[in-house]
Amino acid sequence: MSTVGRRWLRETDPATVEYSTEAVDGWHRVRAGRGSGRTRHRNKLLLISFDGFRWDYDRDVETPNLDKMAQDGVKAAYVTPAFLTITSPSHFTMLTGRHIENHGVIHNIWFNTTTQEKKQYYMTQFVDSYWDNGSLPIWITAQRQGLKAGSLHFPGTAATYKGETVRVRQVEPRFYDHSNETDWRLNIDKVIGEWFHQQDLDFVSLYFGEPDLAGHSFGPDSPERREMVQQVDRTIGYIRDKIQDHGLTDRLNIIITADHGMSTVLRGGLVEEIILSKIPGFSFRDIQFQLLDYGPVGMLLPKEGMLEKVYQALKGGHPHLHVYKKEEVPARLHYSKHPRLLPIILIADPGYIVNGLLPLNSNKGEHGFDNEVMDMKAFFRAVGPDFQKNLMVDPFDMVDVYPLMCHLLGINPEINDGKLHNTKHMLVPKENTGGNNESK
Ligand SMILES: [Zn+2]
Repeated sequence: MSTVGRRWLRETDPATVEYSTEAVDGWHRVRAGRGSGRTRHRNKLLLISFDGFRWDYDRDVETPNLDKMAQDGVKAAYVTPAFLTITSPSHFTMLTGRHIENHGVIHNIWFNTTTQEKKQYYMTQFVDSYWDNGSLPIWITAQRQGLKAGSLHFPGTAATYKGETVRVRQVEPRFYDHSNETDWRLNIDKVIGEWFHQQDLDFVSLYFGEPDLAGHSFGPDSPERREMVQQVDRTIGYIRDKIQDHGLTDRLNIIITADHGMSTVLRGGLVEEIILSKIPGFSFRDIQFQLLDYGPVGMLLPKEGMLEKVYQALKGGHPHLHVYKKEEVPARLHYSKHPRLLPIILIADPGYIVNGLLPLNSNKGEHGFDNEVMDMKAFFRAVGPDFQKNLMVDPFDMVDVYPLMCHLLGINPEINDGKLHNTKHMLVPKENTGGNNESK
């Protein structure tokens, strides 16, 4: 694309193209909008997720690179993830802007209630029909509108959507060390050096599996978790250095966020654990299919005619267990309408997990709790040519990140549950931008 002499095209309404005589840093590229004659500049966008990075993890550790990034950009108090606050569902909300009951990736585990088959997190990545369920992730939308997209290790990367995959991608091998800092740097070199610099991609999503693993194994208040946050901080410094080295600082926006937080599990005689088999009147003989022993949320499909019996037995069965028929799940959680959700949904209070027969789970930290629990809130930072500097903003919802990303990329979003209004104030205001048909 050529610039017009020393003049620069400015984003405008479909009918007109304005010219500015000011050369504005970051307005490096001029492209025609799809089919509209509209012309606008576009900076690149890197979306990074650090799994399980709770909103307040920078409070008890020195994080010089995160602090520098906040000075140079925007820091949100926190972001409220979608419920269920677990990895695949929450990441798919990032990629689609839809509540989980609307995008249908309702759990990390794929399951079949007839055959009893379950696939764990990794193998579920390859079940196309589980992901390609009516909501298009932003990579596909961007590609359809002429952009180049990539994804490294981000949940959903392996799947095919309406016959199309994210064209540049790297899926982790089955047994992958998600904590290795050397590998993290190789992945960053690939994304920044090869994908953005050499291949000129417009949008990349990049996933890191920590500090989630440290939080599960050692607890969110452990020295091991704090060390991992320092590794994340070094990594953020490395990313920004690489971006600088490749001359991309003024052309690349970065959003760094997480899928959920982490909360300490109470046990060791401190509390009475939730064990369904110990609840009077409840019997696994009445259950056709169960999804239990996976953190604080469980789902049950009772056998024919047994729903009311199972429900009545469990309801009131433990003071820290909330028992819902799926249609009773509070509307604010947006976790009741999808047909994949099972008829009975169990949600434990913070500190508790839902065990079936025996307390098998030995994690010191867990997530999956109600997204209003402060421990489930995720962190959010952003920096780049389109973001304001040294700005602290109020919390918003994860669904509101998707319309922001579409706006930054200059693409028309799919139907979504977010509002650009809730996140757009993080951006540098632009004069004479005319109407914005992407507002929602
Ligand atoms: Zn996660």
